[in-house]
Amino acid sequence: MWSQKTYHLNTPPFGEGFFIAICWSSWYDGVGDFMKEIFPRYYPKFKCIAGECRHSCCIGWEIDIDADTYELYQSLNSPMGEKIRTHIEGEPPHFVLGEGKRCPFLDEDGLCEIIREHGDGALCDICYLHPRFSNEYDTFTETGLGLCCEEASRIILSEEAPFFIRHPLWMSRKERRFFKVQKAVLKVLQDRKLTFQKRMGVLTEKYRITLSTEEALVAEFLALERLDEAWTEALACQGGVKKELLLEQFGAYLIFRHWAEAWTDEDYAKVVRMVLKSCRLLGRIATDETFLDMARMYSSEVEYSTENLAKLME
Ligand code: SF4
Repeated sequence: MWSQKTYHLNTPPFGEGFFIAICWSSWYDGVGDFMKEIFPRYYPKFKCIAGECRHSCCIGWEIDIDADTYELYQSLNSPMGEKIRTHIEGEPPHFVLGEGKRCPFLDEDGLCEIIREHGDGALCDICYLHPRFSNEYDTFTETGLGLCCEEASRIILSEEAPFFIRHPLWMSRKERRFFKVQKAVLKVLQDRKLTFQKRMGVLTEKYRITLSTEEALVAEFLALERLDEAWTEALACQGGVKKELLLEQFGAYLIFRHWAEAWTDEDYAKVVRMVLKSCRLLGRIATDETFLDMARMYSSEVEYSTENLAKLME
């Protein structure tokens, strides 16, 4: 089941306690020590490119409408309000997609009619927050950008500096222990004195992970649920990434985003396994030129399907 929902530990997605980050664009890095929300260094660079986007998130995704926005839509006394109401169905309520699985409010210029008519305050939570995700811990929340958005993918994967996020000074004992392990994993993954292959070798040894052959790995990904058949074609490619920095940024992003999956059971190996498999796969199917696109597809196919993600962590 695919969804564009963010991750929330201990609270249901978009349920009670869902946070709205104010001034997202200005609080980050060092300043984040004072805040309950922290962000990677690149976070403020993101701005939706809307009509310039070649793979708009307004195509192909079924968008659930949160309760507050649903109420707002019921109360809109305008032709757009009427149009919105006629394009909602089901439980939970969601927008009915049009031809080519396009959002009914995506105009020919790639712009959103709801924003044009009523401002972005009239967007439902999912549309408003995409491509951001958040991981909630005991004492703070991490917020990041998801790779399934082509602009976010460009920003994240074109970073030259190693991935970095500053955790708060004050953390719970469990958080302190938990992120110490994450830091050690990132240190290996970003150790530029070693080839990326060697860094992966260090981690497989440390976490006693056996990686299958590339062919078996491709078969494993082919057996997952599919969102778009373009991914099937992508999996058949034999690229061979030369620029190791791409794999490093991709791997570090995955560690950052999915470390939360180990929060409950502190089973770090399952996240490391998923990350190494994913790096190995991208290293095989992508080239330096196609990497961003492959990473974007990977993200849609894997990161937004709880079933697929769980299978890769087995
Ligand atoms: S995929 Fe990203 S850049 Fe493209 S329309 Fe969606 S949020 Fe904007």
